[in-house]
Amino acid sequence: MLAIPGPTPVPARVLQAMAAHPIGHRSPAYSELQAEISENLKWLHQTQHDVQILTASGTGAMEAGIINFLSPGDRVLVGCNGKFGERWALIPEAFGLQVERITAEWGKPLDAAEFATKLEADQDKRIKAVIVTHSETSTGVLNPLAAINQAVKAHGEALIIVDAVTSLGAIELPIDDWGLDVVASGSQKGYMIPPGLGFVAVGPRAWQAYESAKLPRFYFDLGLYRKAIAKHTSPFTPPVNLMFALGEALRMMRAEGLDAILARHSRLTRACRAAIKALDLPAFAPDDAASTAVTAVIPSNIEAEQIRKMMNKEFDIALAGGQEHLKGKIFRIGHLGFVSDRDLLTIIAALEATLQKLGSAVTAGAGVAAASRTIAEG
Ligand SMILES: *Cc1c(COP(=O)(O)O)cnc(C)c1O
Repeated sequence: MLAIPGPTPVPARVLQAMAAHPIGHRSPAYSELQAEISENLKWLHQTQHDVQILTASGTGAMEAGIINFLSPGDRVLVGCNGKFGERWALIPEAFGLQVERITAEWGKPLDAAEFATKLEADQDKRIKAVIVTHSETSTGVLNPLAAINQAVKAHGEALIIVDAVTSLGAIELPIDDWGLDVVASGSQKGYMIPPGLGFVAVGPRAWQAYESAKLPRFYFDLGLYRKAIAKHTSPFTPPVNLMFALGEALRMMRAEGLDAILARHSRLTRACRAAIKALDLPAFAPDDAASTAVTAVIPSNIEAEQIRKMMNKEFDIALAGGQEHLKGKIFRIGHLGFVSDRDLLTIIAALEATLQKLGSAVTAGAGVAAASRTIAEG
C-alpha cells in the first residue's frame, strides 16, 4: 500500500486500461482518445486553454514551464521553503537567468508580503517571472498562492509559474479565474496513474512571452505540443499506454466530480491531522498552511525511520521519509489521488499498532477515534 506522495495508488480500472496492446499514435483511434483527454484536462485544470502533455516527470514539466517563456539574463523570483522550491531555483540558474530566492524556514509557508515588497520595488519591470511551489511536498506545507499571485498581478509584467504537482486535483486551483500563467503537474501524483507524463497549462500572457523568449528549446518546445494538440495528436511518439491510463483516470475523476474530489482530499487531511494529534505526534506544517496531499509528522520520542520500517514490514504500508536535513526527523503520510476514507483509517490503525509495538505509551484507539470522528462529520 503506497502511502507516499507519489507514485500514488493506481485503480484496477486504470491498470486494466494500460494493459491493452499499444495503438499507432497517428491513427484515428489515438486522435479520438487525445481529443477526449484534452477536454477532460481543461476541466480538471479549470481552464479553457489547452494543457500540454509531455513524456517527462513533474520536473520536466517545470523545466518546460520555465524555459519556454524566458530569456538569458532575465530576473526571476523563486519561493524556496523546501526541497522542490530549492529545485526550481536551480533550473533558471542552469539556464543563465538571474535568480533571487525568497525563503522561509522548511515547515513554514512563504510570506506573500515579501514577494509584494520585491515586486513593488521593481519599478523598471525587470522581474520577468515568479516561480512558486503551491504544495511543498517535502514538508507538507501549502504556500499562499492566491496572495502571491495578487502581488504578481499588481506588478503587471512578471509571469507566475506554479508547481502544482501535489495541488492539482487536491485543492482548489482555478487557473483561469486567478489568471495563473503557467501551471505544471505530473502523472504519478493526483492523476491516479503511474509516473511518466508531465502536464503544462499555459495561459495567453505566457504564450505572448513565448513569442519573444530566447532560451534554447527543442524537445520541450511547448509550441510544438500546442500545435499538435490542436490537431488531436502529439509532436513525438507519446507513451500510448500511459495515455490509455490517463483517459480512464480522467473518466473516473469526472464521474466523481471536482468538488467531491477536493472535499475528499480536505477530509482525508483533516482526519489525518486529527489522528496524529490524538497520538501526540505533532504535524510539521501548521493547521492554516496544510497541504491536502501529504502530512509530515514529527515523531516525539521514536525514530521516524523505525516507524517507517515497521509499517513496511508488518503492514506492507510504505510511508515517505524526510528529505535533506529532515532525513530521520520526520515521516510523511501521502493521501493524494486514489485514496479513500477506508485507506486512511487503515493507515492510522496500522500506525497505532506500530507505535505500540515500538513501546510508545499511546492510548489504544485514540488515532482511529479521532480520524473516524472527522470522517463522520464530513
Ligand atoms: C513529485 C513532485 C515534483 C516532481 O518530481 P518528479 O520526480 O520530477 O516527478 C515536483 N514538485 C512537487 C511539489 C512534487 O511533489
